[in-house]
Amino acid sequence: MPETVFKAQPIQIRYVCDKCGKAEMMPTPGGKPILTPQGPLIPHTCGNKFCGEVKGFHVMYPVTTFIRGRALAPDEINVVFPPKEVIKTGDNIG
Ligand SMILES: [Zn+2]
Repeated sequence: MPETVFKAQPIQIRYVCDKCGKAEMMPTPGGKPILTPQGPLIPHTCGNKFCGEVKGFHVMYPVTTFIRGRALAPDEINVVFPPKEVIKTGDNIG
């Protein structure tokens, strides 16, 4: 399959505490990942200091990712990748 280019919009996913519902779960400062067969669990702590909920996640919240939009037509792409002119290394060696 050839490369295709899509528009993308950045989004951020936050995890609100299951226990109090008032604050986000954030990575626990100094927390060490817990190794599991499914991958490391990253300890998070509720941002509500009166809650104290601690929970492990396989991702580090908040997660920044992208929503993929429509594919761009070739005439809409003004970024050339890969470069049209390939610099051949080694031509000047010898
Ligand atoms: Zn909480």
